[in-house]
Amino acid sequence: MDILITNDDGITSGGLYLLRQELQDLGRVFIVAPDRDQSATSHSLTLYRPMRIERPEPDVYAIDGTPTDCVLVAAHGLLERPPGLVVSGVNRGPNMGDDVFYSGTVAAAIEGAMQGVPAIAVSLASSGAGRVDFQYACQFTRRLVGTVLEKGLPAKSVLNVNVPQKRDDEIKGVRVTRLGKRTYQDTLIERTDPRGRAYYWIGGDAPIWEPEEGTDFLAVDQGYVSVTPLHLDLTDNALRTTLESWPLRP
Ligand code: MN
Repeated sequence: MDILITNDDGITSGGLYLLRQELQDLGRVFIVAPDRDQSATSHSLTLYRPMRIERPEPDVYAIDGTPTDCVLVAAHGLLERPPGLVVSGVNRGPNMGDDVFYSGTVAAAIEGAMQGVPAIAVSLASSGAGRVDFQYACQFTRRLVGTVLEKGLPAKSVLNVNVPQKRDDEIKGVRVTRLGKRTYQDTLIERTDPRGRAYYWIGGDAPIWEPEEGTDFLAVDQGYVSVTPLHLDLTDNALRTTLESWPLRP
């Protein structure tokens, strides 16, 4: 079986290569990843310019596109046959709660599921710009992949995994969770460039989260690996029933 590893942190991220090492005895492992950091690009596609693909080593491809582009390109001809599994990560930084809507890491896994392939997104809940250790997250992913290959995943579902940044003897266990609530503290920063023109940057303090029972945030904060099953059907069936009674007129 062929396994596709991708990410949104870009082709130089150490998380890709450690993960490849962990998964290599499960199949032929391909890395197809953006050629630069594409974090928070969500599910965007490159449609209005051509893309270039570099092959720095056998079975490793760097694309000047988004994480979603990488999965599409891999599934539609770059690889000899579509992969049997997509693993996106290991991302540097958590992807929990409302983050999943911004995350390129999660989007790549969702694209895998949209292509009919079982898919997992894995993020390391590290903070700051310092050195990170992907070792435990990769070892956990290897075990989870083994279970997913044995049991399968339903169509249109992905697993969103967040691993605390701790040593393996400090990890308390694994919790199956739901998405928690983030509160972003974004502010729009306006500054002036050297030629006197205004420029803008989204900044602000780090997001805060609600410590609700059963959530990904609480699990990771308490030292557990969080596994959240996500479903691609965003239809709000309760609201659909309500809307049926609205006086909607053509
Ligand atoms: Mn990222």
